[in-house]
Amino acid sequence: MFENILPLYGLNSDETTVNLFGDGLINHTWKVTAGGQSYILQKVNTDVFKNPSDIDKNLCLLKDFLSKKDPDYLFVSPVKALSGESLLNTPSGYFRLSPFVEGSLSLNALTKEDEAYEAAKQFGKFSSLLADFDAETLNITIPDFHNLSLRYEQFKTACANANPERMEKAKQYVDFINAHQDLVATYLSIVDHKEVPLRVIHHDTKINNVLFDKDYKGICVIDLDTVMPGYFISDVGDMMRTYLCAATEEETDLSKISIRKEFFKAVYDGYMEEMQDVLTDTEKQYFSYAGKFIIYMQAIRFLADYLQNDIYYGAKYEDHNFNRAINQITLLKEYIKIEKELTAPLSSSAEPHNQQHAQ
Ligand code: ADP
Ligand code: MG
Ligand code: MG
Repeated sequence: MFENILPLYGLNSDETTVNLFGDGLINHTWKVTAGGQSYILQKVNTDVFKNPSDIDKNLCLLKDFLSKKDPDYLFVSPVKALSGESLLNTPSGYFRLSPFVEGSLSLNALTKEDEAYEAAKQFGKFSSLLADFDAETLNITIPDFHNLSLRYEQFKTACANANPERMEKAKQYVDFINAHQDLVATYLSIVDHKEVPLRVIHHDTKINNVLFDKDYKGICVIDLDTVMPGYFISDVGDMMRTYLCAATEEETDLSKISIRKEFFKAVYDGYMEEMQDVLTDTEKQYFSYAGKFIIYMQAIRFLADYLQNDIYYGAKYEDHNFNRAINQITLLKEYIKIEKELTAPLSSSAEPHNQQHAQ
């Protein structure tokens, strides 16, 4: 396959080394080294991204804007092939080649608050540099990706059509989701609020989508496939969901699901370092809601899939999605339990909105 792709970039495949690279879960990723230069070659996952050229167009628009806005900003985007295209549609799939960021490393787990701070700062910097870019000119690469209201409707449909045995087993968790519907209402009020604008949002703020240098300072964000118009609660919320707990969504020992309070502060400080002057006062009031929003949505998605016999996520073992849903519900409970303590050290503008939540 590579012998057909690399020459399209003027690379001689006999003089090139290609190795699978990184721990990304969506695309196929290889490191390509040729004549002292390294690249990242990716085959785009078209099960997830139905129109890869939509991503390519977004990256071109952003690259153009950012190169003028801040020429020193490292925006890692695909290079052009000999044909002039930055995305190649080949018989083996859609491919793109980006410069490898030399001296970079990525983390799969967060052990230090400083790393959470650095990552949040990079995601904040990205949205901050793009604050004057008209987000609505971007293509939507995954429709309704973080549309909580739709996800909740889909959950209700899943409940109505559920596998009866699974419904019986999941009953108390279904009740928990329904008892927290106010989180959906808050989402709807955010979306409708004129002081919560659509922004350029990354939408996949997992820690391995930030590149660090050897001293663990953030270099830049990568994995830009889900960059779309959205709300800042998506990026902040997925950082909360994936940075605050030392255990992942796969953990089945629920005693390990707890919140590292100092990581919440680190995410806040890093993100606000860049976004303090960009976010409206209204947005700031939803900072801690962001965590509940994304954790709740993920719980809903795992539980809905369990009730529908794992058709979307699949399952490595019988109760896989059931366990993942309980994991996320436990995380949400922990978060709600200490939300006041989490937000106490923040500046007054970031104190949570006066929202009532069923416990
Ligand atoms: P996925 O969508 O599958 O997660 P990513 O774009 O995140 O794919 O790439 C997977 C991994 O490859 C990243 O987590 C990172 O470790 C590495 N990587 C991607 N792009 C670069 C790059 N330009 N320079 C260095 N490493 C990179
Ligand atoms: Mg990634
Ligand atoms: Mg990705």
